[in-house]
Amino acid sequence: MSRKILIAGNWKMNGLLKESSELAKEIASNVKKMDTKAEVLVCPPYTLLWTVKKALRGSKVALGAQNCHTEEKGAHTGDISPVMLKDAGCSYVILGHSERRHDHHETNAIVCQKAEAALKAGLKVIICVGETLEEREKGEALNVCERQIKASVPAISTASNTVIAYEPVWAIGTGKTATPQDAEEVHAHIRKILAQKLSKSVASKMRILYGGSMKPSNAEELLKMEDIDGGLIGGASLKAADFTAIIEKVKI
Ligand code: PEP
Repeated sequence: MSRKILIAGNWKMNGLLKESSELAKEIASNVKKMDTKAEVLVCPPYTLLWTVKKALRGSKVALGAQNCHTEEKGAHTGDISPVMLKDAGCSYVILGHSERRHDHHETNAIVCQKAEAALKAGLKVIICVGETLEEREKGEALNVCERQIKASVPAISTASNTVIAYEPVWAIGTGKTATPQDAEEVHAHIRKILAQKLSKSVASKMRILYGGSMKPSNAEELLKMEDIDGGLIGGASLKAADFTAIIEKVKI
């Protein structure tokens, strides 16, 4: 089954206007020269969306956000709705990142509600799951991801509107990466659970990204695995050269 590889940059809470516009322009220009078969996405913080959108004009690099509210509008001070993200030029939104689950106490149920709202607003969603180090050491990685997938992915998800990101929490921003074999084991399990929850056909087409210290030196061996359909990249997406070098590893 051939699934289009997605390389997505999660800029997290980084970047000011000038440097971010330059970063986006450099990524866009590199991607244009490369003629890659991968789909490329950058997800800056809210304050940069419009500037980055302008910097990406005319390129194939898509724009996404890192979170959204469940409601379309109203009395929710400090929040941003999926409709607003769509209006600002986003095509994707990352949901359920472990930093949001941890810092903002986002449960699977909240992630699922946000995903449903985002899909209804016409955004595509990247739903993140992944175990902590303690859970991995207890042999719980597959069970944790299974529970998160079952409860965070809405019933209206399809292969074209939803992407899953497996991000072992212990690998995020730590320099530690899951081995390709360990990552593949979880990805294959996630696909099995998606088949039970959605359908076999949807699961076989849905992309499952790996995230957690992906960089130019380890991207190729991860992307070679059967069930790894791209990367969600934090730190290495903040340097155009590194992000571009990862995109260059996409061979299909
Ligand atoms: C992330 O935050 O989604 C991530 C994978 O970060 P890093 O690549 O820095 O580990």
